[in-house]
Amino acid sequence: MKLHSRAVHVGDRKRDANGNGGVVGVTTPIHTASSFIHNDIADLDRVFAKEIPGASYSRYGNPTNAALEELVADLESGAGALACCSGMAALQMALNVALIDRRRVVLAAKLLYGATLSMLTKVFEASGVEVVWADFDDVSEVETAIADERPGAILMETIANPLLRVPAMDRIAAMAQKAGIPLIVDNTFATPIMVRPLELGASIVVHSLTKYLSGHGDVLGGIIVTNAEYLEPMRDLSRIIGPILGPFESYLAMRGVKTFPLRMERQCANAREIAAWLATHPNVDRVHFPGDPAHPDAENIARLFPKDLYGAMVAFEIKGVGREEMFALMNRLKMVVPATSLGDVHSMVLYPVMASHRDLSPKHRARLGIHDNLLRLSVGIEAAADIIADLDQALRA
Ligand SMILES: *Cc1c(COP(=O)(O)O)cnc(C)c1O
Repeated sequence: MKLHSRAVHVGDRKRDANGNGGVVGVTTPIHTASSFIHNDIADLDRVFAKEIPGASYSRYGNPTNAALEELVADLESGAGALACCSGMAALQMALNVALIDRRRVVLAAKLLYGATLSMLTKVFEASGVEVVWADFDDVSEVETAIADERPGAILMETIANPLLRVPAMDRIAAMAQKAGIPLIVDNTFATPIMVRPLELGASIVVHSLTKYLSGHGDVLGGIIVTNAEYLEPMRDLSRIIGPILGPFESYLAMRGVKTFPLRMERQCANAREIAAWLATHPNVDRVHFPGDPAHPDAENIARLFPKDLYGAMVAFEIKGVGREEMFALMNRLKMVVPATSLGDVHSMVLYPVMASHRDLSPKHRARLGIHDNLLRLSVGIEAAADIIADLDQALRA
C-alpha cells in the first residue's frame, strides 16, 4: 500500500487475545488502564518474559500507544517505535539509546532546534558526554570529524532549524553506516512523506509529534523510530526511565497522522506559492526556502525530496527592522497566529531570536546566521491568498 493508505489503516482494528466478545472498534480506543490482565496468569508471565507480545503495565507498553507506534514505524520504514511525552524526551531517549556501550562522544550539527542545542550542552556535556560540533552542510567536515573523533553517535536534522538548510543526509548516513556509528535524524520538518532516513541508512529517527504528524495544535508528544538493531535496547531503556506518552495524547496523535499526508501536500503547495511571493516583496531582504532553485543545498534537495515537496517552513529576513519593529509586525497579523510551534493546520509565525533560539548568546546566533530581522513562517492549510494578504498588510504598515 502507498503511504497515504497506510497512514489511514495501519495500527487499527487489533483483535487481542482476549477476544473482546468478538467486537472490534474500527478505530483504536483510549486505553487508560495502568495494568492489564490475561486469561491465564501464565500468559502474563510470558508477556513479562517477552516471549509473547501483549500489555502488562502501561509504562512497559499500552495498546493505544502501540497502535500509534506501529503506524509511525510503518510510515518511517522502521522496525518499531516508542511514543514519548515530548519531542525533547524522544531526542534525549534516542541519544541515550545510541550511546549505550559506545564512546560517550556525540557528533552534532551546528544548526539544530534551539532546545536540542541546549540539551546537548546543559544535559549531555554537563554529565560528561563530549559534544563535537560540525557544519553538516560541509560533508568533508563531517567525514573528518567521524575519522578524528570516532563519535558514539551522530545527530542531525533533515531540514535544519531555522534557516532551512538541507545537509546531504544520504551521504552522511552512508558514512555513518560504514563507520558503524548510529545516525539519529530529527525528521520533524520533513516528515516521512518527503524522506525516510532509515531507508538511507540512519539508525534512529525522531519526531516532535506536536508538529506535522499531529498537526492540530492540541497534542504535545514525540516519537522515536528505530531500525531492528536499536528497537530492543530502546524498549528496555524506556521500561526503566518511562518517558512515554499518555493514552489520550496517543489517541489524538494517531487521529492526526491519518490526515498528515493530505495536510502536508497542501501545506507544501501553499509554502511554494508564499515563498515565491515573498521573494518579490519590496520589504523582504531574503527568503530561505528549500524549494528555491538558488537554495545553497539545491543538489541535496533534488536528491532527497520528491518534486514539489520542499516542506512548509519558510524563513525570511525583513528589510531594516529590529526587535521592536518585529514585535509590531507580529502584532499586526490578523489571521496568521504568532505562536511558538509549527506544522499545524493554521499558519504561524515565530521569531527565533525571541523563542526557539532565545537561549543562545547573541554571538552564537550571529555565527549561525540567525539575525534580529529573521521571521520563521509555518505555512498552514488555509487558502494561500489569505495568508499572503495577511502577511502583506503586516509587512507594509
Ligand atoms: C518542536 C521540535 C522539537 C521538540 O519537540 P517538542 O514536542 O516541543 O518537545 C524538536 N525538534 C524539532 C525540529 C522541533 O521542531
